[in-house]
Amino acid sequence: MRHETDPDPVLGLRPVRSGHDLPSAADVVIIGGGIAGVSAAWHLARRGFSVVICEKGRIGAEQSGRNWGWCRFTLRHPAEIPLMRQSMQDWRDPEVFGSLDTGFRTTGIAYLTGRNPGDEALYQSWLKSVEAFGIGSRMLSAREIAQKIPGAAVPPSGAVWTETDGCAEPGRAAPAIALAAQGLGARIMTDCAVRSIETSAGAVSAVITEKGRIACAAVLLAGGIWSRRFLGNCGIDLPMLSVMGSVGITTPLAGAPEVSVAGRRFGWRKRLDGGYVVSQADATIFDLTPDSFRLLGDFRPMIATGLKTLRLRLGWHFVEEARLPRRWNADEITPFERCRIAAPAPNEKVLREARQCLSQAWPVFAATRPAGSWGGYIDVSPDAMPVIGAASQIPGLFLATGLSGHGFGLGPGAGRLAADLLTGAAPVVDPAAFSPGRFARFAASRPRASA
Ligand SMILES: Cc1cc2nc3c(=O)[nH]c(=O)nc-3n(C[C@H](O)[C@H](O)[C@H](O)COP(=O)(O)OP(=O)(O)OC[C@H]3O[C@@H](n4cnc5c(N)ncnc54)[C@H](O)[C@@H]3O)c2cc1C
Repeated sequence: MRHETDPDPVLGLRPVRSGHDLPSAADVVIIGGGIAGVSAAWHLARRGFSVVICEKGRIGAEQSGRNWGWCRFTLRHPAEIPLMRQSMQDWRDPEVFGSLDTGFRTTGIAYLTGRNPGDEALYQSWLKSVEAFGIGSRMLSAREIAQKIPGAAVPPSGAVWTETDGCAEPGRAAPAIALAAQGLGARIMTDCAVRSIETSAGAVSAVITEKGRIACAAVLLAGGIWSRRFLGNCGIDLPMLSVMGSVGITTPLAGAPEVSVAGRRFGWRKRLDGGYVVSQADATIFDLTPDSFRLLGDFRPMIATGLKTLRLRLGWHFVEEARLPRRWNADEITPFERCRIAAPAPNEKVLREARQCLSQAWPVFAATRPAGSWGGYIDVSPDAMPVIGAASQIPGLFLATGLSGHGFGLGPGAGRLAADLLTGAAPVVDPAAFSPGRFARFAASRPRASA
């Protein structure tokens, strides 16, 4: 029999106990207990604000507990590098998350050449674009690869590499930060969907949850793939789509590399239990939904460049999405209660292919056996950059969402920046690149009177 304190058997997700009684008031209510929400809660609680996290399912059970666990500078957009630098510092700093059981460690990450046509030129131009930041990324020669990542059947000719990249354990990180936030006084309510925001004279005055009302002057929406739907009900149009990634894990393997690697049709990361995450970075599924058509104009450039790596699929998910309500009242069951945890089935073909390609490329992996798999929806903004900042249409409403497939590593910084903006503190980095108002559709939308 499973107990409330046992980790989730598939994801290895550490449980976080929910508060019993819904607080009637707080300075800030955070919608969503993923890495962005819990990081923001920690910073707010440490600054003396009363905070409640409302999570419709379990802490970390969606993207933040389903990802590969990579925390990387490598191939990150230059505009994100300062925030990523802050995140790396926060993952490591014992005064922030460095003393928590997140599983963070420095391993180095390599993206091999030969993954896709033209990738060496892409790596070179990325290296040039981030030169000024001094993060130490560089190309590795074939000889260096053989030293750092021994055992390749055919030595790869090159790789882009960052020595200071690392990883954390998705099953541990968000729960550990949530527990630390709880220790600082944050209240955590799980199985507690927020249905809507209540306003007074146009500004946030409360949230209405399925368990009741919490009066508050500020709300941080850190709702991952659900943020667009939540805001839509308020009359705010945030362009955001979801793609689906698949993750497989293996049995433990001794003597295999510590380094995380992306190669042609495979990627790996060593887990703390000695097994490996094995998947493919370039095999994300883009499930068509009604929003794919509504937002076609916003996403056209991304879809055009991403077609090499995205696999379009039209299936049951279209119908599921179409059936979910887009408008509701605060006394009605919402989509967030209908889907406590988005847990799509993984694409086993992609995972089989990844295991085969990996065993051919690094034969030591042939000794592993599959030990589990899962799928996860990933929220993506039109420019694949996070959305962190005020939703100025409703004073008191802030967003930390759209982390676009690389937000686990960035989560600590995203939460810190959101806390800065929300409290009026000097922002830890220039937030301009993350402003929700950069999307014309968002900037033009006006809240519904009853939001
Ligand atoms: C397969 C896969 C691989 C990935 N690999 C990596 C990687 O290696 N490195 C990396 O940096 N990133 C990776 N990512 C991306 C990363 O996981 C996400 O960017 C990050 O976890 C997003 O965190 P979040 O807190 O914004 O969202 P989430 O973790 O999705 O959290 C949002 C939470 O909000 C809750 N919620 C939503 N609406 C409501 C509501 N109305 N009321 C109450 N609760 C609500 C949800 O239940 C959810 O728990 C990967 C993602 C996937 C799926």
